[in-house]
Amino acid sequence: MSELVSERIREHAERLRLTHLAETAEQLIARAEEAEMGYRELLDLALEEEVGVREGRRFRNALKLSGLPHHKGLDEFDFAFQPQLDARKVRDLATLAFVTGKGNVCLLGPPGVGKTHIAVGLAIAACQAGFSVYFTSLDDMVRNLREAESTGRFAKKLQTYLKPAVLVLDEVGYLPLSRAEGNMVFQLVSRRYERGSIILTSNKTFGEMGQVFGDEVLASAILDRLLHHAEVISINGPSYRLKDRMLEQREGGDGRLQS
Ligand code: ADP
Ligand code: MG
Repeated sequence: MSELVSERIREHAERLRLTHLAETAEQLIARAEEAEMGYRELLDLALEEEVGVREGRRFRNALKLSGLPHHKGLDEFDFAFQPQLDARKVRDLATLAFVTGKGNVCLLGPPGVGKTHIAVGLAIAACQAGFSVYFTSLDDMVRNLREAESTGRFAKKLQTYLKPAVLVLDEVGYLPLSRAEGNMVFQLVSRRYERGSIILTSNKTFGEMGQVFGDEVLASAILDRLLHHAEVISINGPSYRLKDRMLEQREGGDGRLQS
């Protein structure tokens, strides 16, 4: 009799796609008996575990689809190394109110100060909270959009960058764009305006964006929309990439940078 019921639980759980429950129902019941759980407690535990497993699976899938270059979170960021950076401001951003409010985040500063790391950390937090995330460098995005345009698929390709709740646009300003390319960025930014969040990283100041986007008027139209609801974090400090080399030098190395 009890075997029949066990089999039926498994089958029903599978049909409802409660895959974790289907696999673990017997263990769960054994645990409940041992701990003398109440009915409510058992039901609560069964549902909680199922949700936990499902969330974990969703999170891993979302991370895979996000295209993030690595999965280093904010917990791996050493704020003590970057004392001018307001740690509280970054941790506030990690509560993701800016994502709910469809606002943006701009991380500015020279190479190696941790702009991409913080952008990735925020993106992981967003992923974990169930928001869709997509990471791209500006140059890759522009190259993809240009290719799509030449084959008449621009509108479809643009959707890749419009759909996610959070778009990370990394390395804005490494290569200057042509006017036509700047115009593609304008289309993206204006269509995401108040509809989805952008986390942007750049080694340029806003004043230099005219050169980046190929045209001053275009640049101010882009910045106008980007910055209307935005947190701007400028990181002025040492490069983490050069940290070990600086230490070596201080400890009496010959002072030459090794490549
Ligand atoms: P940026 O995008 O500003 O050029 P990155 O975020 O790529 O810099 O940082 C360069 C490397 O140094 C990465 O591996 C990053 O994880 C690491 N890094 C930078 N700042 C810190 C920090 N404060 N604590 C820990 N790791 C850091
Ligand atoms: Mg970077």
